[in-house]
Amino acid sequence: MRRKLSKAERQQVYKKCAGHCAYCGCGLEYKAMQVDHMKPLHIGGLDAMSNMLPACRSCNHYKGTLDVEGYRRYLAGISHRLMRDSIQFRTAVRFGLVRHMGDDVTFYFERCGEGEQESEG
Ligand SMILES: [Zn+2]
Repeated sequence: MRRKLSKAERQQVYKKCAGHCAYCGCGLEYKAMQVDHMKPLHIGGLDAMSNMLPACRSCNHYKGTLDVEGYRRYLAGISHRLMRDSIQFRTAVRFGLVRHMGDDVTFYFERCGEGEQESEG
């Protein structure tokens, strides 16, 4: 059961990625932050600070009920699905308007996690 976070706890989650979405890295207003459970509660994730990350609305929506690796696999498959399903995308690739840059997904929290000495742009 998800409990309501105190204001201090919400601020603690927000600070984890210094005002960025933990997944895509976009700048995040405090009020717009959604608290994501890395391992969702319904598959046994803990409703604890160690399992919480700040997320933008879009990432929280698309991650949905997936865990971190599930979300990574979902994202890594996007270009394949576009090539399969979207004539516009295939056309854009054919004309060099869009280029496939790879399917490796590194989340923002994985890049910033150890690099706390790095200054924020
Ligand atoms: Zn995001």
